[in-house]
Amino acid sequence: MPTAAYGVADATAPLAPVTIERRAPGPKDVAIDILYCGVCHSDLHFARSEWFPASYPVIPGHEIVGRVTAVGGDVTKFKTGQLVGVGCLVDSCRTCPSCQEHLENYCTTGMVMTYGSPDPVMGGMTAGGYTTDIVVDQDFVLSIPENLDPAGAAPLLCAGITTYSPLRHWNVGTGSKVGVVGIGGLGHMAIQLANAMGAEVTVFTTSPGKAEDARKLGASHVVISKDEEQMNAVAGTLDFIIDTVAAGHNLDPLVAALKRDGVLCLVGVPANDNPHPSPAVMGMIFGRKTIAGSLIGGLKETQEMLDFCGTHGITAEIEQIPMQEINTAWDRMLKGDVKYRFVIDMQSMKG
Ligand SMILES: [Zn+2]
Ligand SMILES: [Zn+2]
Repeated sequence: MPTAAYGVADATAPLAPVTIERRAPGPKDVAIDILYCGVCHSDLHFARSEWFPASYPVIPGHEIVGRVTAVGGDVTKFKTGQLVGVGCLVDSCRTCPSCQEHLENYCTTGMVMTYGSPDPVMGGMTAGGYTTDIVVDQDFVLSIPENLDPAGAAPLLCAGITTYSPLRHWNVGTGSKVGVVGIGGLGHMAIQLANAMGAEVTVFTTSPGKAEDARKLGASHVVISKDEEQMNAVAGTLDFIIDTVAAGHNLDPLVAALKRDGVLCLVGVPANDNPHPSPAVMGMIFGRKTIAGSLIGGLKETQEMLDFCGTHGITAEIEQIPMQEINTAWDRMLKGDVKYRFVIDMQSMKG
């Protein structure tokens, strides 16, 4: 089916209207009318070939919320009219050890990203959520709690799970002392989620102007990370730190903020020309500390996260835009000028 979308033709081109071809729903497929799509910094990194050369055109978007318009004959999990979501993955090999443990996000042989992966059904490359419609296998569709604002729920599909998964993996709970580095799309989710899990949250930011917002989102303490005195004051106090900042920065003061056996988990991938400086090994050895990484989450855990957000009434703080303003939104996102996630209102494409 010809479908209206926005995509980029090469690494420097602006986003522009393009028509893509969606498959007709197969027996296990769910057809979705997209209501909202979040704008993730990865969309821009990927479309600009900042991590590796992309195959063009790129149709970005992996924070998708919409309503089911049709289901295939073998679909048991969803019905027409239901509010659903699609995140960063639309398929995986389903047989490797990671897939068998519900960790499709770490599939070693056949992970199909929502955009920019070879499309096993249609050929060509997969096309993401900057479009009006998408067709996805039911095993990669998520149920969105109906009590959540659907626009605010869209960023949960990437920013939400990317921060929820490591918080769960490293057993954050009541009484945990958790650090969150950066108050952007990911960081503002991490603060809310860690707080709802019962943790005491310390936010590290370079922007004193964001301190009040951090507290509103659930932080107990705000540390201005460029202030050496403030950094020294929190040394050795935190169990776990989630670092959402992708721009290269010194990790040593964050390692120093950890207690013995603490973990600093990185979830932002720096562009190749702006890596983190290598951390000092001494800081890790004295205190048996870990620097780790984490990539989104599996489908089962993503559903668990959505249900958790439904129970706790958690959504992203968003600014809605029409699709026609996406290039301005990307420019503003680059400057950090968004509180805290742009979400495209797909009604703007359906005129
Ligand atoms: Zn993302
Ligand atoms: Zn697999």
